[in-house]
Amino acid sequence: MPLRSVHIVLTYRCTYECSHCFLHCGPNQPGSMSMMEMEGLIDQAASIDGVERVYFEGGEPMLYYPLVERGVRQVGELGLSSGIVTCGYYATTVPDGEMWLRPLKELGLSSLDVSIDGLHGTGDAMTHGRNLVDAANILGLDVNVISVCDPREDECKDASLPRPGEEASPAMLRGRAAHELVEGLEVHHLGQFTECPHEELERPTRIHVDPYGNVHICQGILAGNVWDSSLPQLVKGYDPHAHPVLGPLIEGGPEALAKAQGIDTDPQYASECHACYEIRKGLLRETRMRRFIGPNQVYGEEPEPPPNSYV
Ligand code: SF4
Ligand code: SF4
Repeated sequence: MPLRSVHIVLTYRCTYECSHCFLHCGPNQPGSMSMMEMEGLIDQAASIDGVERVYFEGGEPMLYYPLVERGVRQVGELGLSSGIVTCGYYATTVPDGEMWLRPLKELGLSSLDVSIDGLHGTGDAMTHGRNLVDAANILGLDVNVISVCDPREDECKDASLPRPGEEASPAMLRGRAAHELVEGLEVHHLGQFTECPHEELERPTRIHVDPYGNVHICQGILAGNVWDSSLPQLVKGYDPHAHPVLGPLIEGGPEALAKAQGIDTDPQYASECHACYEIRKGLLRETRMRRFIGPNQVYGEEPEPPPNSYV
């Protein structure tokens, strides 16, 4: 696995509950990674040849600000660059945004990705996101805006929302989006979905690690658990062709996954990701698959709290 970046999903908790969220994040999702878990994971990431960058994401990582602060400092001390993906809920004004970002900039934060679009909200959510972008620009941080739109719109209407140079793309139909943004979309037979068009499943350059220690290759597809082994071991031993979900997806996309797993579901889907997500959701309760797909909240099921979580 030619890994370049490790994305730490500090928490599934979020101030918002967006209809397009890949992970079913929201205010009722429990807990986060602990400090020791996060520090151990960053040390492991830094020990892997080729890893250059660690991101702090969620959910909303800034709900656990002390962890982000400590993590950004550690990443800098280890000679890697750091990034944060955030909705900016705390930037009620531009000076408030500066107050939250300045300590992180001083600790060496390399970049900031801010989610701004109509699916996150056109009222306060958008104002706060914009305030955070302005604050980041004042501080000289490298800032990028992430925007998506409802795939059911003829045109990406939110394209009118970003500023010049910013671009919205249709939300992908995974997680909550597969439940809430599908109705009304044209559907096609499963046989048309014979590849994964969006992720480098065979040779991933990025992975996500969540508060349970799960290593995600795509959201909800697990390559192992860093609390059971270690990240360097998992990266070294990565064998996607032997994986009961990744192997078929690489060979022939969602159609091959359904055939390999003997899934008999409604074979009409709106996209590769929609098919892939629904097939995996159908496998979630099978004990033999629990190492390979999860955790519950990614699939909209009742979550367990992370093992060493804060409340
Ligand atoms: S899309 Fe982002 S802001 Fe919205 S619920 Fe998910 S993590 Fe939170
Ligand atoms: S097809 Fe499946 S593995 Fe590929 S990007 Fe979509 S959800 Fe992820």
